[in-house]
Amino acid sequence: MRQADDYVLLGLLAAGLVETGRRLQRLADVVPSEPRARGAFSPQWREGVTQLWWRFQDVGRPAPRNDYAVLDLCRLPFGEWPVELGVAASDRESALIDGGAVSEFALEAARVRHGDVEGQLVEQRLFQELMLVARSNTRPGRTAQDGYVRLRRLLIEHPVLSDLEVAALEQEFPERPADGEPYVMAFVRAAYERRPAEDGIDLVACGECRIPLPYAYGQPVCGTPGCATQPETLHLETLGFYWVLHRAVRRFIHGAGVFELRVFKELKRLGLDPDLWAAMDALDVSFAVDREGRRYWGTNEKDWESPGLLARSFSWPRAPACDRRFLVIPTHRARPTYLRDLEAELVGRLPADLKVEVVSEKRLLTLVAKEHRAQGRRR
Ligand SMILES: [Zn+2]
Repeated sequence: MRQADDYVLLGLLAAGLVETGRRLQRLADVVPSEPRARGAFSPQWREGVTQLWWRFQDVGRPAPRNDYAVLDLCRLPFGEWPVELGVAASDRESALIDGGAVSEFALEAARVRHGDVEGQLVEQRLFQELMLVARSNTRPGRTAQDGYVRLRRLLIEHPVLSDLEVAALEQEFPERPADGEPYVMAFVRAAYERRPAEDGIDLVACGECRIPLPYAYGQPVCGTPGCATQPETLHLETLGFYWVLHRAVRRFIHGAGVFELRVFKELKRLGLDPDLWAAMDALDVSFAVDREGRRYWGTNEKDWESPGLLARSFSWPRAPACDRRFLVIPTHRARPTYLRDLEAELVGRLPADLKVEVVSEKRLLTLVAKEHRAQGRRR
């Protein structure tokens, strides 16, 4: 039996912080002397604080006296809280507030709690536009799945587009309703925002992930998880405009996609012919591991700060059927303790007949190479 889940308590406080932060712009603004702060705390926060009070009560320790004392607690790593929290060992270094802002852990916890409402809205809207373009532009040699993969890759590999490139897309996906512009334009508008640029433009962008960089002081950061930002000048030929990925698309689709695409390319280098987003995104990257195509391995790539929260949000689809299933963790997260914690947290959360192996990016490639050697196949 699992004990009462402290991730629920942390999820409530996290959701409360996200909501409160939204109301006050910056959590640093929450100071006792500020009358504006009174009544700014959300119902989630109230519920979290109440649960916290009971949590302290249970172990006979004095609970934080007010919201500001709870906020102070939120700045402490979980391993230093006066009550022993039941969280994975690698989560003990995390806190809910980090450097005056809602932490990555807190954002993930709020996401697990609410089922990631904002992310789902962004994804659903784009998915609808994408499907419309893909389904209406099928022809011999191009299935709807091909069109889906082509456009989804575009979002990941081209966070910036010139109007000339968008015009080329209209040629490639010409289908349109009787009285309007090509469906692909609705997709472009849903994913990108248009900015003026007559006669070309020079942008500073990350050379690795191509995200445009703000003109910040010091070292600019692209914000793509695990990306070592490499500023480069990017020249675009334009007639009048260029297009930049919307912030939300960047956060919910581009960042995850960079990791998925990297695994896809690494597997290709091993001589495989992997599928991207099989069955319209049921799996991230999947592939036949033998030449005859009899043994199919599926992978889902996940880049989460917290193994405890990842385990609570994770599921595996029934279709397509896979002979082996892998939950793949990017190199920059895959410390042995993280992998062990994730495995432990997953126990009992997936159906018994869907065995999922937790592996690092590197380990997946090693397993594929090993399988190839066993088959007497050259790399
Ligand atoms: Zn980058």
